[in-house]
Amino acid sequence: MSDTPRPHTPGPGDRLVLATRNAHKVAELRAILGEVGVRRELVGADAFPEVGEVAETGVTFEENALLKAHALARATGLPALADDSGLCVDVLGGAPGILSARWSGRHGDDRANLELLLAQLDGIPDEHRGAHFACAAALALPDGTERVATGRLPGTLRRVPAGEGGFGYDPILQPEGETRTCAELSPAEKNAISHRGRAFRALAPHLRDLIG
Ligand code: IMP
Repeated sequence: MSDTPRPHTPGPGDRLVLATRNAHKVAELRAILGEVGVRRELVGADAFPEVGEVAETGVTFEENALLKAHALARATGLPALADDSGLCVDVLGGAPGILSARWSGRHGDDRANLELLLAQLDGIPDEHRGAHFACAAALALPDGTERVATGRLPGTLRRVPAGEGGFGYDPILQPEGETRTCAELSPAEKNAISHRGRAFRALAPHLRDLIG
């Protein structure tokens, strides 16, 4: 008999659920959790089709991420993760912020949102085009325990969109120290520096402590 601990194989009781129906986000977070040694099996919210969407009634990224995580933990009886994110523009006092997905009035119309923002920033000189992507990542347990962490990706806003990758405002945000926009980075390059990656990496020690 050897004393070497046997590798842990996650079972159904070890699941952790992420408040998204986007398979890409689930895969991205699985990679981050693997990096930091969280061994729970991560599943997306579409594993629970009976659980409805949560109204994002908070006024901060943290509040909205916590609302979504608590609702999912209550509904599934599993530890739940959620995130909320957006673009914060310095000269607009942090807007669009939590309204990023519906800035143009049409929820999820990335093109219209980006075009409205560019029009609003028309004539703003380069030195005042600072902005950052922000993300809050939340963990909620069925007993009500909660943890939240944040991450940022600072940069400047271009006048003309560039790049085909990514989504949302990626074609106009040029990260600090980069010559390309987020939409010109590979997915791996963006994940390595993204607000979402930073927020979940900051949350990971709490995950390890609370649920292993
Ligand atoms: P969500 O709440 O994380 O789905 O993001 C809200 C909105 O913020 C999205 O619809 C995008 O407009 C914007 N956003 C958040 N993260 C990113 C990003 O990484 N790139 C570009 N836009 C983003």
